[in-house]
Amino acid sequence: MKVLIIYAKNTSVFWNFKPSIKYLGLFGKKSLVAPLGPLTVSSLLPKKWERRFVDLNVKKRLKRKDLLWADIIFLSANVSTHKESVGNTIIICREYGKLIAAGGPFFTLQPEKYKGKVDYLILGEAEITLPLFIKDYEKGEAKSIYKPESNQWADITKTPPPDWSLIYFNDYCVMPVQFSRGCNLDCYFCNIGVLCGYKLRPKNPVQIVNEEEKLYRSGWRGTVMWVDDNLSANKKDILKETLILVDEWQRKKGYPFKRITQVDIGVACDEELKELLKNANFNELFIGIETPSQEGLKECGKKKNLSVDLEESISKVHKNGQQLVAGAIMGLDSDPINIDKIMEDFFKKSKIPVIMLGLLCALPETKLWYKLKAEGRLIEDLVIDNTSGITNIIPKMGIVKLRDLYKKVLTALYINRRNYYQRATRFMQECIPSAKSRVSWDDIFAFIKSIFSIGIFSKSSPYYWTLLFRTIFTNRKAFPIAVKLAIQHVHLLKYAKGVIKTI
Ligand code: SF4
Repeated sequence: MKVLIIYAKNTSVFWNFKPSIKYLGLFGKKSLVAPLGPLTVSSLLPKKWERRFVDLNVKKRLKRKDLLWADIIFLSANVSTHKESVGNTIIICREYGKLIAAGGPFFTLQPEKYKGKVDYLILGEAEITLPLFIKDYEKGEAKSIYKPESNQWADITKTPPPDWSLIYFNDYCVMPVQFSRGCNLDCYFCNIGVLCGYKLRPKNPVQIVNEEEKLYRSGWRGTVMWVDDNLSANKKDILKETLILVDEWQRKKGYPFKRITQVDIGVACDEELKELLKNANFNELFIGIETPSQEGLKECGKKKNLSVDLEESISKVHKNGQQLVAGAIMGLDSDPINIDKIMEDFFKKSKIPVIMLGLLCALPETKLWYKLKAEGRLIEDLVIDNTSGITNIIPKMGIVKLRDLYKKVLTALYINRRNYYQRATRFMQECIPSAKSRVSWDDIFAFIKSIFSIGIFSKSSPYYWTLLFRTIFTNRKAFPIAVKLAIQHVHLLKYAKGVIKTI
């Protein structure tokens, strides 16, 4: 059996970081994070099946020779996949007369839209449904749809490591590793509980070290993202054991990886966990701040954020040596009419340079989705990318007003270069870098390219030099972070301009 695994193109205008990743490596990178889903699917296939992989975020188009070679197409797509990319891929594969099996969160969330368009829908977690499909397919009895029972979740302690042999590491900036799935919190807009369950399912500590060892032996050096939904929600004992084991492993290897992950704000007050994360070389944490408004936090059920002083907690994370990347949303029913000013002031004071600011969207089967459906405020079922200025809800303040405020905040955060670099400079003064890593060739190329394109040929030039010189004289160890922030702004500026132009 010859399987062509295709990963459809992502839509995320915020997370693609395309203009920034071109700075990395001699010729630039092509995609930010390697896709965990299809690489894990490959590991779940029978050994005797031949496989090839095309990531449409890396390759512009499918090759005729791959399509002719394949017996079946496995089309994989996640929540942020471009529906046009999925549609076009289906059309092309059909032109070649290929059978198509589709799976991943994109299809799991909206299977009815693809019934009849693909031959097989393999929904839910691949560990559960893919083996059933393979068994039936080999007998010539495959059904058109495979889905797990409600509340049936995979035992990920048995999940094999991703098949790294399918990708070229040079195409990507970050490699994914997953410690756990699910989240036991219940924020009203979030679909993690729907997709992965409300009970945390961790792998075992040795399994994680083995996965990182495999990645290391495959040749990867650089950043690894633990793509957990909320790492800090895991039971403390198993997380602690894992982080200690990872630290021991990386010491022996000479710290080959820096790590990033997603946690909740509760981390800031947990001294032991902060220390463990620091020791395990986690240097960047994504945290859903959502909104500085107490009413807004109450509305979306963000209890942890309500129970702490947000500014103080953010500062604690920075002082622990981690850059906090914030998630924030606008369009809550309780958003006051001056939410733009509140957001701008908050992020200025909290010294967070990079904020993923989205419009509130209702994802299927979330509390928010049911509420808005009942109120007749859902425009359509699914909006994939809430950072593109689009929403599928009718906001209380009206869509025109919301877009107007959203544009103002994006302008203040990113188009106003002075504001961005001021936040970055103030963050530099607060951050005590803890990451242990060697300067790589990627870092050197990125710095040299930034001197020319930002330091000489950009309107950001004066701010760039101020940031770098201040960092050299006041926080020399943080210099690579300052360069990274300057390079990230190239993307953020382009992103903000693009969104403002299109909405
Ligand atoms: S903490 Fe994060 S992952 Fe968990 S429910 Fe809230 S938004 Fe979702």
